[in-house]
Amino acid sequence: MLNISQNVLTAVIAQLDSAIAFHGAWFDKISEILVCRSEPNEVDMQDDAHHHCKFGKWYYKEAHPRLREHPAFLEIGPLHEEMHRNAALLLQQLQNDQQIKPADYHCFSVALEQLRMEINNLSNELHEISRQLDPLTGVYTRGGMLTKLRNDLEKVKRGQFQCCIIMLDIDDFKAINDRYGHPAGDEVLQQLGLFLCNHIRIYDDVYRYGGEEFLIVMQDCDKTAAKQSIERICKLLNEVDFDIGGDVILNISASFGLYQMDATTGVTESITRADEAMYEAKRQGKNRLICWSDGLAE
Ligand code: GH3
Ligand code: MG
Ligand code: MG
Repeated sequence: MLNISQNVLTAVIAQLDSAIAFHGAWFDKISEILVCRSEPNEVDMQDDAHHHCKFGKWYYKEAHPRLREHPAFLEIGPLHEEMHRNAALLLQQLQNDQQIKPADYHCFSVALEQLRMEINNLSNELHEISRQLDPLTGVYTRGGMLTKLRNDLEKVKRGQFQCCIIMLDIDDFKAINDRYGHPAGDEVLQQLGLFLCNHIRIYDDVYRYGGEEFLIVMQDCDKTAAKQSIERICKLLNEVDFDIGGDVILNISASFGLYQMDATTGVTESITRADEAMYEAKRQGKNRLICWSDGLAE
């Protein structure tokens, strides 16, 4: 998951759209130069031309840090560079008053088409992610959760893959609604969504499971590593100031239940076990993590 909030994702998509538009304008200009045999721009013939076009500036300097880790984003870099290399070759031929070689033009147009396809893939993926996000908290809705977990379970069954499910429930959330009103509670949920997005790894997913319950799925992570991460998040959460407006700052805590998926336990039962562990955390005084085990006292 990208793990950026809905608002940020909307901004990221808008940035990508304008980068695509810049790229289109760049291509129009290059086509005009090639067809009209007009003077090429010096910068388009340089080795590092891919860093200087507006799309490149966005790609290398402005793109959101989380987007930079996304596989579809990473695919674009080499294709963009190659496309520029091909374009530079054509422009150099033009400048040297040579005839443009059809084979070189073919390489340019193939590279351009591949680049366009990859950029479209990225754009489609971002829009798809955006459709799956909960509008209030910016984390995934439950929609695709079970399918995703079933895929994870299949990988667990094949061995060499570990995956932990963590149920999070805000402590005494009703009291916040009762004292400050429902919109204040919403504000807390929204800021918590952002906090979670910022504190989990790129491989992890967060779902809004229920009203004030979130399900975190930590991929490629065993119980020991997940426990360490979640204990850190549990402590950090205590220190976050939730600004609900009107000069009111709230501090909250949450209870966490962790279950490491195993090959013989189905997805629904796995979630139930994370939930049971979370309820045990409530019983033991809240603001803590409990890992599921037969005795539940781990
Ligand atoms: P505990 O520590 O045992 O979890 O206590 P709690 O008060 O958090 O638990 P409880 O389940 O009693 O209350 C959850 C509350 O969450 C009740 C409901 O009004 C509130 N809630 C659920 N969804 C939303 C929402 O979208 N916005 C707001 N503001 N409140 C919500
Ligand atoms: Mg609850
Ligand atoms: Mg609660």
